[in-house]
Amino acid sequence: MVGVVPVIGVLALQGDVREHLAAVTACGARAVAVRRPSELDAVDAIVLPGGESTTMSRLLTTFELLDPLRKRIASGMPTYGSCAGMILLARDVLDGRPDQEQLGGLDVVVRRNAFGRQVDSFEIDLDVDGVPGAPVRAVFIRAPWVESAGDGVEVLATVPERTVAGRGTGDAAGRVVAVRQGSVLATAFHPELTGDHRVHAAFCKMVTASTAAV
Ligand code: GLN
Repeated sequence: MVGVVPVIGVLALQGDVREHLAAVTACGARAVAVRRPSELDAVDAIVLPGGESTTMSRLLTTFELLDPLRKRIASGMPTYGSCAGMILLARDVLDGRPDQEQLGGLDVVVRRNAFGRQVDSFEIDLDVDGVPGAPVRAVFIRAPWVESAGDGVEVLATVPERTVAGRGTGDAAGRVVAVRQGSVLATAFHPELTGDHRVHAAFCKMVTASTAAV
């Protein structure tokens, strides 16, 4: 750990970087943008933002971050991915591009853009394990869901039967949209967009616990 407060990087190649930097800062950690390997070396943990996973995958190679990031994640660096970030962490992706690279860290298969065109973007209230208090307002934007998960993966949230608008969730009901596996946390939705920082706070708690253990 670099100082008294943990230093949490936000992968800053593409996506909603600013929103994650603000959410991490609001949780009392030091938030820094990560674009190069030397910046990755200096962080205790990292957030992979929402955006476009295929673009991020390509940029990770261009910026020579793919292997260093894979290694840090494999060695237990606390990592949180939202939406496209969840896709990057998955062991495997359905409906991805054939050349899409995975960072690994989560023994899950995700389906990209899983919620279909008519519900490309929607919001629901979700109970998320590890997030105390009222349900979390979850914003889904061309989101993935977790199609299958290995034994070591904790399911933290699933889509409820009915949405707030009274519209049935159809195929989406019961789908897994938040998971944790050891030091890796992922949500198919975007808590960075709502001003409710409880998911980031839960991640910061994971980071503090891991840096205290060193
Ligand atoms: N559909 C995007 C992808 O494949 C993810 C969308 C998001 O992060 N909001 O990466």
